[in-house]
Amino acid sequence: MIFADLGLSEKLIQAVTDSGYTTPTPIQAQAIPPVLMMRDLIGIAQTGTGKTASFVLPMIDILAEGRSRARMPRSLILEPTRELAAQVAENFEKYGKYHKLSMALLIGGVSMGDQIKALEKGVDVLIATPGRLMDLYDRGNILLTGCGLLVIDEADRMLDMGFIPDIETICTRLPATRQTLLFSATMPPPIKKLSDKFLTNPKYIEVARPASANASIEQGKVRVSSRRKRDTLFQMLDAGVQTAIIFCNRKTTVRDLNKALRQGGFDSGEIHGDMEQRDRIAELDKFKDGTINILVASDVAARGLDIKGVSHVFNYDAPWHPDDYVHRIGRTGRAGASGKAFTFITDEDAEALANIEKLIGTTIPEIVLEGAAEPVREERPREKPVRARKGAKTDDRGADDARKSEPRKPEARTAEPRKKAEDRPRAEKPRDERRKPAASRPRRDDARNDGPDDGWNGPMPDFLSVGFGTE
Ligand code: AMP
Repeated sequence: MIFADLGLSEKLIQAVTDSGYTTPTPIQAQAIPPVLMMRDLIGIAQTGTGKTASFVLPMIDILAEGRSRARMPRSLILEPTRELAAQVAENFEKYGKYHKLSMALLIGGVSMGDQIKALEKGVDVLIATPGRLMDLYDRGNILLTGCGLLVIDEADRMLDMGFIPDIETICTRLPATRQTLLFSATMPPPIKKLSDKFLTNPKYIEVARPASANASIEQGKVRVSSRRKRDTLFQMLDAGVQTAIIFCNRKTTVRDLNKALRQGGFDSGEIHGDMEQRDRIAELDKFKDGTINILVASDVAARGLDIKGVSHVFNYDAPWHPDDYVHRIGRTGRAGASGKAFTFITDEDAEALANIEKLIGTTIPEIVLEGAAEPVREERPREKPVRARKGAKTDDRGADDARKSEPRKPEARTAEPRKKAEDRPRAEKPRDERRKPAASRPRRDDARNDGPDDGWNGPMPDFLSVGFGTE
């Protein structure tokens, strides 16, 4: 099957061809024809399956006829996060380049003024997160009575984030005779209830999870004691990682880990839900243009991010929800490239791991790093801390002491300190060099020791040092 078989306009097929795509993905092949026929649709599909284009493409053709009116958007796409909303907007720009459709993006964290101005002019497509949409609706800046097409994307994530009541309210403000498309990775009961209530005779499409289908992602689990996580990660990164997204379960861990990485001389950045939108975009842009090659992330901020060329994903914390595992590892191995995904497993993660392996239907191969899973030896606390460390918790002291008693690898001790990323002028770092595996750069060890954990003691395993992330 080719795109021309789906009933899309020539202008649209030209834009798709310009993007380099020739064959529709399964969700596109199945969803585009019924959407063009104005059917309601439930799409069970994850990000990474090409689902965005499966609704953006037919929407562009549907909206090609007709005119927008002030404050009355003609269509509405609801997204759970700002990043996903921005990504959908990019898709509209890419595929709609031969059309004259107007679009507004309503997301939190950016000034309302410009968004209100765009709405005043009238928009064909409104892409919004529920919170900001409700804000502007309640202020009288939006009328939804002219909105004949609604997309609820990532419905299960909307549920996790508590957006379902907002979505129900929004649905009741739209005309009853509208077209509604709902996409979700899973169909928990509240989403089923939502679709029963607000969709009419929907076409039901389910496509394979990309992770289970995506053989280009090599997965591994690494048993590690929680206090050795940080150094284990540093050493794995040093073994030749080009670009990595590192997922943590908590925002505080994201912040702390990024700080430690930067102190350790890595070119890293962070993205999590507590950051201002402009800072999130700035960090993403730095990662995309190669200014940084490591991005520490939380699930909410990173869900569905489409960044090409991410060679590695690390689950610094095993995700609590097995679906998140699929989303996280799907950040690598995109668009046919290969990628590697490593998950740290501590004793507390047994249940999470069992759920993940049940969901993906396979046992993740174990990668044994000698010593990584051994508990850090506790010593009797000294009367006075040997090293006063700003912000150190009392129970970290045992680990610091233990580290002092465990000799580290000699080559690591004598290595030249890395320059901190922020001290290094951009001009000094040509793109190629910035992308070079960290193993080829000098390392600074003092910063690495300044944490509550320690790495493995054994020699560097072959799988890490040979061909790791270089294909
Ligand atoms: P999505 O599931 O919408 O997040 O899309 C995942 C990735 O697949 C994005 O990088 C898209 O640009 C890409 N993509 C979308 N449609 C196609 C296609 N027909 N062929 C190849 N890649 C595609």
